[in-house]
Amino acid sequence: MPPFSGEKSLNRFHPEALAGLQEAIHEAGGREVFFAGALAPDGRVERVRVLARGNASAVPALFEGLDIRDVVVHNHPSGDLTPSSPDLTLASMYGAHGHGMFIVDNEAHTVYVVVEPFTQKKAALLKPRELETMFRPNGPMARHLQSFEVRPQQAAMLEAIADAFNTDTFAVIEAPTGVGKTMAYLLPALVWALRNKERVVVSTRTINLQEQIMFKDIPLLRRCLGEDFEACLVKGRNNYLCRRKMERAFSEMTLFEEESTRQRLEAIAEWAEHTEDGSLSDLPFVPGRELWEKVNSEADTCPGSRCPNQQKCFVGRARRAMGRADLLVVNHHMLFSDLALKKEANDFTSMAVLPVYHRVILDEAHAIEDSATEYMGVSATRAAALILLGRLLRTEGNRERGLLPLIRMRLTKECPQVAVAEFEKFQDLLDSLLLPAYASARQAVTAWFNAMRGLAGELSGQIGRDIKWRLTPPVLERVELREMHTDHTLPTVESLRQLARLLDDLSRRLRGIPSRPQDTEPPLMTEILELNACRDRMASLANVLSECTSAELQENTVRWIEMDSQNEQWVRVVRCPLDVGKPLAEWVYEHLKTMVMTSATLTVERRFDYLFHRLGLNLMPEGRVSPLMLDSPFDHREQAMVCIPTDMMDPADRSFLDESVESIRQVLKMTRGHAFVLFTSFYALNHSFRSLEEELRRAGITPLCQGKATRTQLLDEFRRDMSSVLFATDSFWEGVDVAGEALQCVILPKLPFRVPTEPILEARAEAIEAAGGNAFMEYSVPQAVIKFRQGFGRLIRRRSDWGAVVILDKRVITKYYGRIFLKSLPDVPIIRTPRDGVYNALETFFNQRREQG
Ligand code: SF4
Repeated sequence: MPPFSGEKSLNRFHPEALAGLQEAIHEAGGREVFFAGALAPDGRVERVRVLARGNASAVPALFEGLDIRDVVVHNHPSGDLTPSSPDLTLASMYGAHGHGMFIVDNEAHTVYVVVEPFTQKKAALLKPRELETMFRPNGPMARHLQSFEVRPQQAAMLEAIADAFNTDTFAVIEAPTGVGKTMAYLLPALVWALRNKERVVVSTRTINLQEQIMFKDIPLLRRCLGEDFEACLVKGRNNYLCRRKMERAFSEMTLFEEESTRQRLEAIAEWAEHTEDGSLSDLPFVPGRELWEKVNSEADTCPGSRCPNQQKCFVGRARRAMGRADLLVVNHHMLFSDLALKKEANDFTSMAVLPVYHRVILDEAHAIEDSATEYMGVSATRAAALILLGRLLRTEGNRERGLLPLIRMRLTKECPQVAVAEFEKFQDLLDSLLLPAYASARQAVTAWFNAMRGLAGELSGQIGRDIKWRLTPPVLERVELREMHTDHTLPTVESLRQLARLLDDLSRRLRGIPSRPQDTEPPLMTEILELNACRDRMASLANVLSECTSAELQENTVRWIEMDSQNEQWVRVVRCPLDVGKPLAEWVYEHLKTMVMTSATLTVERRFDYLFHRLGLNLMPEGRVSPLMLDSPFDHREQAMVCIPTDMMDPADRSFLDESVESIRQVLKMTRGHAFVLFTSFYALNHSFRSLEEELRRAGITPLCQGKATRTQLLDEFRRDMSSVLFATDSFWEGVDVAGEALQCVILPKLPFRVPTEPILEARAEAIEAAGGNAFMEYSVPQAVIKFRQGFGRLIRRRSDWGAVVILDKRVITKYYGRIFLKSLPDVPIIRTPRDGVYNALETFFNQRREQG
């Protein structure tokens, strides 16, 4: 058969894309290269990027980073454009996912189109009525789920989400517990992904919810839909073993004749041969942080398609699974890191942490401001800085370890092609420049953190264990800070930058070492990559320190120092965005077609204003965001009651804590355990637990306390032991699902206001006041109301649940803002009476309910 001649490339490519093809093929020495080509509106490829190097038999289908309109392009060095049979296999795989496939010659003069590119068809719209049949009394969900109940709220939510997908808009939906919100968003998301071949991302805050989605809801949906689809639980890159780093760790061990970690490293290597996914959670033992960091994957030390292990790479495998998936299940942190990378590259059409997507569902959306703040911030700790320096050089036992001695060793033993004179130059660079620069940077960094710690202790005016000292403009103007900047920060930053420059110099020179004929990759490539990563991290550390004490406070930022007065090692400097709403509106919402934000608690006083302002949703064009507040499917008037003792002291009173302990004791007598006591501080938690522990045990009630076991162990024990009481704080206010008899009472000693002196809260409050607002009413109260509603929401999880919430903080009825808390609750009977009346009401309520069985 004559070779396929193809057509002129300019019919199919823009000139810039052709230049990109030619350059990369030339760089690869004319060998085969796979590209992703982005289609311009005229149907031609306008941009290409390298996906992999190797031929079609060696390159598995690569989907990561491919947008639905992308074309896969590769070259045939022979110039014969006839697709081979591996080409045809790949073409059918790509074609099934909507990607076109082209073959070009090495000069990219001619192209053969194996699969025509996807041309934008009209979206296959969702039909809510059709989807709702899934939730009908005799529908698939009822057949596959014993406890299934028809809930009109679920249908309403599904309809709103279908509308957001169909019209490329955003939906913000408050869906109280019991609505079945996960199914209400998963179903339209999946049907959209399948019908339109367009992946959808579901992001949650907690691993619990991600696992519930992956291992409970998705299998159920698969049975109900009767359709096959791919869903992928995305884990961070550092969770995966890097084969290349593992090989490096072995050779380092051999070079240094180290025995101490050999066994564990060998166990990891053995596990690597049969592990399902190569991720840390699959490893049958805990390797310890230091060992895992020696072998885990990192973005900045991975050469990507140039790594010889790429075919067997666990990260690559995970990315291919991601690329194929219709649904990606991620966490908020991962989603924000992906968006940040895409923003930095100003390219939302390529792979960063995640492949391309345009539709996102954010569950647990009440926590987005915190997640985004954390992600958009930067920080440096003394420990992390010293670990980074330790990667270059450290002493273990009486041996020197790290990249610098390893490079010296490798140069000596494995690079005979380096001429003597050149070798001496390397020795000179290492001994005369790098080692002194390293020593001076290490000494400067240690001194910098010590000095910062001293200043914070002296000037912050705070006492107690945890000190958080905000660096406001007046603080930064203080003479001590200015001296700190000139005497410590600038020299430290300079020493880190000098070290980074020398690392760069070494890296450049190592890259100049010629390869030997038997080399499969450039000499010392792994070490060069690690040198570059250390160089960049060193430069970032220098930037964080330099900014920390600089007199100029960047716009929209808050800076502070954290230290533990009892642990000298714990010092952290932080910079966070003051406002995340505007950045979210500018670089997140802008690039998404559909976003669904949902949670059981998004409103305050049944309004979305607070959330819209905090998340920048108010900056979106009119009509782009539709809010929906669903009613609870539970009958709170029947199932619950709220008790507020009117004669408690004010929480600000010194005796309040002891008085609240006494009230807890009395309430637990009535409930006989079956309770959560949710505190707002560890101090109150520990004091109350210690005061009641013995007495409760004597009364046959098992007291459980946060911090005495893991969260899972505590919850398992609480569910198992029906007369237990759990004393907990912060993280137990939300994300905890205990249904049935185990939990019948939630005691809230204080309203959950956050500590107003937290630097970020303080700064936000000041910004609101400066703009003429009322920070307490516009920020502190709504924040506390949402947390309060989360705490309240622990009680009733099913239609058969019943119980009482006892609020010991009388501000909820005596203060003008108290009504906002109460008005934000569902319709529930509220008993306001002195303590004895509360105890009597509780006794009657519990006796009646228990008699009714
Ligand atoms: S491709 Fe990257 S992560 Fe995978 S083995 Fe190679 S270096 Fe490690």
